[in-house]
Formats: sequence, C-alpha cells, structure tokens
Amino acid sequence: MPAIEYDHFKELCQVRGLKATSQRFIILKTLASLATHPTADQLFDEVSGKLPGISRDTVYRSLNILADCGMLKRLIMPGGATHFDGDTSQHHHLLCEACGKILDFEWPDFDRLPWPVAIDAVGHARTASVLIMGRCLACKGQ
Ligand SMILES: [Zn+2]
Ligand SMILES: [Zn+2]
Repeated sequence: MPAIEYDHFKELCQVRGLKATSQRFIILKTLASLATHPTADQLFDEVSGKLPGISRDTVYRSLNILADCGMLKRLIMPGGATHFDGDTSQHHHLLCEACGKILDFEWPDFDRLPWPVAIDAVGHARTASVLIMGRCLACKGQ
C-alpha cells in the first residue's frame, strides 16, 4: 500500500469535517505502514517513539475517530480483541490459530457474489469481508 501523504490526509479530513492534527496523521501513517493489523496497545508502542508524551488514551481515541470516519478499519477478532487495519481497500483476512497473526488475502470471486436474498428478511447489507481461521505458512509446516 502506498504511504499516505499529509496533503491527502488533510483532504480526507476536510471532507469528513475532521481536524487534520499531526498526531492523527502520524497514527494513521504508522498504521498504514504496518501489515500486522496491530491492537491499539501495539500501535501505541509504535507511535510513542515518534510522538513523545502521547498518551495511550489519545492513541485509542484517535484510532476510533479515524475508524468511525472510514479512514482505517476495525477488525474484531473472535476472542474479542480489536485490531486495526490501515488498508481500507476490499480484502479478507486469515487468522492463524497457532501464532495469532492476521494476514491479508484477496478473494475476487467472493467480492463478486450477490447478497443472499435471505438478508432482505433481516436487514440491509452494506459491506462484507471474511475472516478465515487456519494457519499461516510459517505455522503450517510445524
Ligand atoms: Zn502462524
Ligand atoms: Zn488487512
């Protein structure tokens, strides 16, 4: 994924009526540079070196504000932990049950499926992405 530039970030914020603070930018940029889908705590460890004095609470709040605006994605894992994804393009995830890694993959055939008619009986579908449980390549051989 290409690194996000500040000008682009500013535009995204303007459209959403959000203040383009440098803290939010660094949080988003750091998240976008990671393929690991970190939790808020893990991301705090990454950004605290770049933003000395930033509080855990600010990182949490910024992540949630940016997620609510659609600038990053929240991934709720089956165990209940919330992870964050800086890649907002359509993709799916493999959760390795051995090491806990969350890996990206594309699934164009799934993305092209029409919504099941049964959804109309219970609500309205907006977006879908799949979480597959299994093992990553490193753990598969063990
Ligand atoms: Zn693994
Ligand atoms: Zn992802």
